[in-house]
Amino acid sequence: MIPQTTSLKTKQNWQHALANAINSADELLALLGLSGQLAAIDKAQIRQFPVRVPRSYIKKMRYGDASDPLLRQVFPLIDEGFRVDGYKADPVGDHLAIKSPGILQKYQGRALLLMTGACAIHCRYCFRRHFPYSESNPLAGQWQQSLDALNADKSITEVILSGGDPLSLNDEKLANAIEDLNQITHLKRLRIHTRLPVVLPERITESLLNYLQNTHLKVVMVIHANHANEIDEEAAQVLSDLRQAGVQLLNQTVLLKGINDSVDALVGLSERLNEVDVQPYYLHLLDKVAGAHHFDVEEELAVSLIENLRQQLPGYLVPRLVRELQGEASKTVIS
Ligand SMILES: *Cc1c(COP(=O)(O)O)cnc(C)c1O
Ligand code: SF4
Repeated sequence: MIPQTTSLKTKQNWQHALANAINSADELLALLGLSGQLAAIDKAQIRQFPVRVPRSYIKKMRYGDASDPLLRQVFPLIDEGFRVDGYKADPVGDHLAIKSPGILQKYQGRALLLMTGACAIHCRYCFRRHFPYSESNPLAGQWQQSLDALNADKSITEVILSGGDPLSLNDEKLANAIEDLNQITHLKRLRIHTRLPVVLPERITESLLNYLQNTHLKVVMVIHANHANEIDEEAAQVLSDLRQAGVQLLNQTVLLKGINDSVDALVGLSERLNEVDVQPYYLHLLDKVAGAHHFDVEEELAVSLIENLRQQLPGYLVPRLVRELQGEASKTVIS
């Protein structure tokens, strides 16, 4: 049974919300009563990764607060344009891990599919902000090749849909892709990494819930929430809908300077996740991608934050602090 509350979440609603996203730094500031209060990178530099923020996400920001933790995730500060040593276009070696077009495999048993380059929101710290999606997209004419590669490798038991944001694909494309994966008998799990339940909850349509419920694969969804304020009542409702459709919910967070690099922010996030039955999974140290150096938090501070969390929270609400190091057989657990 699909809960009635989702019945209004039609395709038109979410695609309309997506099309209506704010795409200018000036407009974003104006909506928050902050015109002229933050300096943005210039327009020529931003073209490769433009501003994109759904209006429902802006509603969760505090009016008139230039340091709002949600605003800071999406506002293209002038700092993005500064070159800093050690920050690269491809910080985690994604290029080297391409197994066939659109498939990345770094770890045993888990293959990651880059389903699309599109996202409903542009997070300024994104480690794939420079990834050449147009050259590597399994759905762009190479889908059969991707399926063949997955079929041929019986060691793969989990497929991870990633991107971009895989839920920015429409239901028809996504349902067909999942149906094809469903036919691969050695697969056990389908994992979806997405920010949409949090940044565009309209996307969790009845149709999506239906086909997630109807695959024989165990469905795990990793939502990427970075701050408790992101999880408002609407997000809580769609998370509950997903859970009722049998989806296991986990969260991963990127540790971001000025956004969630405090004990209070991290405790608040874990408490909120627990209220909405989402298990904290990873707290990631920033991948050193060019343009995001101003978000980086020192490892020493990160470790002390986690130690504080461990004192204040039950163990099951403390995420694992990890970093992705190129060439390693798993994420590296720091604490
Ligand atoms: C992070 C990542 C995974 C998932 O790792 P888990 O530790 O299982 O969450 C899988 N494949 C790639 C390429 C990754 O970067
Ligand atoms: S939703 Fe994820 S992939 Fe998309 S811009 Fe944000 S961090 Fe990057």
